[in-house]
Amino acid sequence: MSEQHRYMKALKCRECGREYPLAATHVCEFDFGPLEVAYDYDRIKKSLTRAAIESRPASMWRYRELLPIEKEPTVGRQVGFTPLIKADRLARRLGIRELWIKNDAVNYPTLSFKDRVVSVALSRAKELGFETVACASTGNLANSVAANAASAGLKSYVFIPSDLEQGKILNSLIYGASVIGIRGHYDEVNRLCAEIAGKFGWAFVNVNMRPYYAEGSKSMAYEIAEQLGWKAPQHTIIPMASGSLLTKIHKGYQELVKVGLIPESHPKVYGAQATGCSPISTAQKAGLDFFKPVKPDTIAKSLAIGTPADGFYALKVMRETNAAAEDVNDDEIRDAIRLLAETEGIFAETAGGVTLGAAKKLIECGKIPKEDSAVICITGNGLKTLDAVSGHCGKPREIKPSLREFEALLTQEESARA
Ligand SMILES: *Cc1c(COP(=O)(O)O)cnc(C)c1O
Ligand SMILES: [Zn+2]
Repeated sequence: MSEQHRYMKALKCRECGREYPLAATHVCEFDFGPLEVAYDYDRIKKSLTRAAIESRPASMWRYRELLPIEKEPTVGRQVGFTPLIKADRLARRLGIRELWIKNDAVNYPTLSFKDRVVSVALSRAKELGFETVACASTGNLANSVAANAASAGLKSYVFIPSDLEQGKILNSLIYGASVIGIRGHYDEVNRLCAEIAGKFGWAFVNVNMRPYYAEGSKSMAYEIAEQLGWKAPQHTIIPMASGSLLTKIHKGYQELVKVGLIPESHPKVYGAQATGCSPISTAQKAGLDFFKPVKPDTIAKSLAIGTPADGFYALKVMRETNAAAEDVNDDEIRDAIRLLAETEGIFAETAGGVTLGAAKKLIECGKIPKEDSAVICITGNGLKTLDAVSGHCGKPREIKPSLREFEALLTQEESARA
């Protein structure tokens, strides 16, 4: 047995605590509670020091002991360690003292945070002997499974709602994956995939592999804390689809305290949704512990999950950290995408517009105090959702290839500004 194996102990039911072997399963047989990976934190604490981490390559795998694989990672070894940017210009516009952007819009290789979860899920799938991988996706997950499976020599099936953005569809097809468009919402895609997963011996990254897959999101929290100089931020604003990323970022901060890598603090994690698909933020604002499923209708298709699998736990985390949720409509999403681009030079996808738009509201209403410091998680790249902003950014002005025409244009502009 490898050295690393002993960091991971078992799969454990989040409801009743029953333990299961580290196989490709995701629900408790007794109460259908979700299974989660349990670790030997005492052992991790002994070997995982700041110095050890800092000496390793700049990828999410520098925190390998806290990620659920037995041996060395075999898929997505370069994923993660994306930039954390101090966003002073945007901070001034939002009226907050200090603001940081964790920029997963440039994650390797498919430009979204999903490369983190897929790298873990596929490395683990290979350890468990799978040759075919699959997923139910709102777009970015399909892209990442398709690309990472291609580079690992795995066969892949990706299931998506058939009305996704062209950019997201093409970004799966190009890798040679079997792309199946389902005429229905993500929640119907997901239900079908649960049936398929029960019948075929495939590794469905977000069905039977979900306990491993979801852990990959923790790496975003580890990196933020390290990049801030080994401390958790006061406030983190996170987009929510299933709600998994939010719960795992919270877990990531807690684990770093547990293994002695950062001092104890009380980081608050805030959830962002699109108003057209806001089951979690609506419940949070109403002070409820449970969400009501909705039918999605929003340009933020990557977040369009009407029955979020981790919605209940996301609500719990926001309650426990004394944080809040907010949502924004399609126009506010577009405005926020432009604001981020114009102030910080970052082109985010619709989910980024959701996150920044929600952060703006949370700061305006004082739920995030103006004298504090916050981190905004940008999770996907705008080049994949051009449809959402095309026709909303003005047009280039055309002139003949003539210096005189250009000078006339400048004069015109100056007088318009005066
Ligand atoms: C999948 C996704 C999320 C959030 O996903 P969760 O299901 O809540 O973990 C956020 N942003 C983008 C761009 C995504 O693709
Ligand atoms: Zn259970």
